[in-house]
Amino acid sequence: MTTGMLVGIDLGTTNSAVAVWKDGAPQLVPNALGKELTPSAVSLAKGGQAWVGEAALDRMATHPGDTATSFKRMMGTASTVTLAGTTMTPEDLSAMVLRSLADDVEAMTGERPTAAIITVPAYFNERQRRATRRAGEIAGLDVRRLINEPTAAALAFGLADRGDREPFLVFDLGGGTFDVSIVEMFEGIVEVRASAGDNRLGGDDFDEVLVKLALTLIDDTAALDALPADRRHAVLTLAAERTRRALSSAQEADFTCVAQGQSLTAHITTEAFENAAGPLVKRLRDPVIRALRDCHVDVRTLSDIVLVGGATRMPVVRKALTRMFGRFPNATVHPDHAVALGAAIQAGLLSGGQGLEEIRITDVAPFTLGVGTATRDQHGRYHDDIFAPIIERNTPVPVSRMERFRTLADNQRQVVFSIYQGEARDVKKNVKLGKLTVPVPPRPAGEVSVDVRFTYDTSGLLEVDVAVPMTGMTRNLVVVDEEDRRTQKDVEARRKALEKLKVHPRDEADNVALLARAERAYEGFTGQVRDIIGAGLTEFQGALDKQDPRLIADARQGLGQLLDQIDSHSPL
Ligand code: AMP
Repeated sequence: MTTGMLVGIDLGTTNSAVAVWKDGAPQLVPNALGKELTPSAVSLAKGGQAWVGEAALDRMATHPGDTATSFKRMMGTASTVTLAGTTMTPEDLSAMVLRSLADDVEAMTGERPTAAIITVPAYFNERQRRATRRAGEIAGLDVRRLINEPTAAALAFGLADRGDREPFLVFDLGGGTFDVSIVEMFEGIVEVRASAGDNRLGGDDFDEVLVKLALTLIDDTAALDALPADRRHAVLTLAAERTRRALSSAQEADFTCVAQGQSLTAHITTEAFENAAGPLVKRLRDPVIRALRDCHVDVRTLSDIVLVGGATRMPVVRKALTRMFGRFPNATVHPDHAVALGAAIQAGLLSGGQGLEEIRITDVAPFTLGVGTATRDQHGRYHDDIFAPIIERNTPVPVSRMERFRTLADNQRQVVFSIYQGEARDVKKNVKLGKLTVPVPPRPAGEVSVDVRFTYDTSGLLEVDVAVPMTGMTRNLVVVDEEDRRTQKDVEARRKALEKLKVHPRDEADNVALLARAERAYEGFTGQVRDIIGAGLTEFQGALDKQDPRLIADARQGLGQLLDQIDSHSPL
């Protein structure tokens, strides 16, 4: 059987990366611009023109309404965005990024990848995982497995030295999600002991805080307020992200943005930013405590705190960690590369890659899974919607558990099980995954039993079997909710629709990215600088129109240098 090429993909909120297992090691694959990280950004124009990655990100400033970023935060929800008249789901947008990464692999190896390991935040719930898998399918990739990001990072970290390790903590703060995992390595087995997190906390939230802070410091925001809402938001968050990065290597930085030709600046000190970010930093604590408690590991026995995710570069986060753990975290793994490298190691493991024979990995279910049931109290009153856990969080996967339930009313004709993921006793506070109805023979209350079996696989996906021993009746549900079922049918249609979008050919990627960058710069400045950029743009455009490769290369170099020069003089 030919299996086709299997790659490892980190589909991140901010950036994505792809790696392959090659010659006994994981290897990152550069994109058309020679970079190992591709911004998770998609931009469309009328007529089906599409940009993915760096160029799309640059179009965020100039065409915010036609550009999407951070769509990973919408995965598993029914939200859509309409870009240049085309409605896109978060899966569609992710599929565009995945396809572009597959193109990069094909360009490097000459072979089109047909299958992928895709990483997801450990704390992604079932719906978010299914949406991720669907994104892979839309991109034409057979998603062999979803693995948790901190687990992938732990693999990359652990494989670097291959020694046995006491439990260590992987602290993964990305653009939009936060995960904590406690991992141990012993005789080639990488064992995740517990995971916890917050799938709505990341660098993006620190940007929001910074925007709020900057707005209190800018005297006159009239020029900003006159912008359309999406544009105002794009201008402010881009400026915030730049400032936040600058604050990672300096005590203070200027938050600068341009609105209607007017440059607005707020001077931000580390102290002010850290005060404003206090509530976010507090939210980092709970998952750490919960993960440690779940696997009964004492914080003092942790051998290392491994940092993953771009947002762990923020000094405010590092300081909080140092306070929390009483020691400095370990920054030896590359925070942006570790996850993709780990995914490629997993790809190597699944395809029997040489050099990996002795490695095995075990992971856990990060959420509790169970059903909503009714119970009757001592006064005979029914209480609906009480969560009955079947698989407790942080149980090693794969796992299969059975629970027996009994009928509650006399002559009951059916039993309805709603399936939930979460920790709350009141099921309404958990994520509903699906519903199963089983007919039962009418008997006095409590006489008929129903067995519910949950099987949770290594990708973190659930299957439910129900049996009524008295009648021999069985029901099976690979958990899909209604919403999910509808979109599942759509996969093929979506793939075809997206294939119609005209993504710029790879050999034009440099030019396309430079054009988008120059246009962003043009809008970002006023006066003389703007004129100079305009002249550079005209010349470059002229060269492109003539289609003379030498002329284009010269003009590209000229414009690139000009923009570098301008950037190096900009206050950030
Ligand atoms: P990831 O999702 O792992 O790619 O992380 C992306 C997040 O890391 C974004 O919120 C970035 O703003 C943030 N980030 C990357 N580099 C830095 C830096 N030097 N300082 C502060 N934040 C950074």
